[in-house]
Amino acid sequence: SDLRPVTVIGLGPMGQAMAAALMRAGHPVTLWNRTPSRADGLVAGGATLAPTPAAAVAASELTILSLTDYPAMYDILGPLADEPGALADRTLVNLSSDTPDISREAAAWAAGHGARFVTGGVMVPAPMIGTGDAYVFYSGPRDTFDSSEPVLRIIGEPRYLGVDPGLAQLFYQAHLDVFLTCLSSLLHATALVTAAGVPAAEFLPGALTTLTDIPAMIGDGLELARALEAGEHPGDLSTARMMGATAEHILRTSETAGVDTELPKAVNSHYQRAVAAGHGDQDWTALYEVIRARR
Ligand code: NDP
Repeated sequence: SDLRPVTVIGLGPMGQAMAAALMRAGHPVTLWNRTPSRADGLVAGGATLAPTPAAAVAASELTILSLTDYPAMYDILGPLADEPGALADRTLVNLSSDTPDISREAAAWAAGHGARFVTGGVMVPAPMIGTGDAYVFYSGPRDTFDSSEPVLRIIGEPRYLGVDPGLAQLFYQAHLDVFLTCLSSLLHATALVTAAGVPAAEFLPGALTTLTDIPAMIGDGLELARALEAGEHPGDLSTARMMGATAEHILRTSETAGVDTELPKAVNSHYQRAVAAGHGDQDWTALYEVIRARR
């Protein structure tokens, strides 16, 4: 193949899916994983297993890392980085999860060893890698991203966010903030109705309609974004006081039902503090004034 060689370090479900997609696209792929047996299937398909991280990084100008977190990257590349020139003029694309600050520190660490460094956050589960529905957030130097983009596009649609290397993980976490909170709310709401003896099947399909009503209510998000940044919460929609009364009823019903109360407590607290701060007659969006200010 005359396509660009790519190294993949980290062969959990995600790294395996990425390596397989790159191989399907015809790229020569070199692998390294702490547990070598996880490469077996890919090696049978034509990938090369490198004996050491140093050999893996030396095999391709571009190395993609898919590890549990950033400390795993230091465990693997740290010893190598001490060898003069081992990381020089290499491009590292780290698609592992961690905090924005830790990914910023890692970008500085890599630059200090002469490597080009792009951070990423994969927004789909492993089975979706390489499909039309996959997308990945990236941040870091624009030229490094641009030169890697044709390869990264094979994994999923690349969405470049900017030069700050913390942006990819910030967006990853912000999206997961929405996702995880919705999933917990679905489970909590199901517990509430089943505690009253109602079968979950009589509730959950309708609950999904409530979830999909949210985009219909908010539209493309741009007007909400504008209103939040402008601090405009006119009070002609659903007021914080009205919604807050419901939030309190949900908390009381949860207490009575004997189900967990932490999530409804948090939501109720947003509303009651917004009302206490004088936002009761404004739209529910006024909760933003409470939420964005650290207590
Ligand atoms: P896994 O936890 O299954 O795999 C992690 C990889 O990291 C393995 O190759 C593992 O090696 C390696 N690893 C972990 N710690 C160390 C260490 N200290 N030293 C050396 N190697 C280490 O994760 P996934 O493949 O599922 O995910 C990879 C990344 O992608 C994660 O950051 C995850 O948050 C992110 N992600 C995953 C999604 C998914 O659906 N799986 C979805 C979106 C993002 P070994 O095989 O030896 O254990």
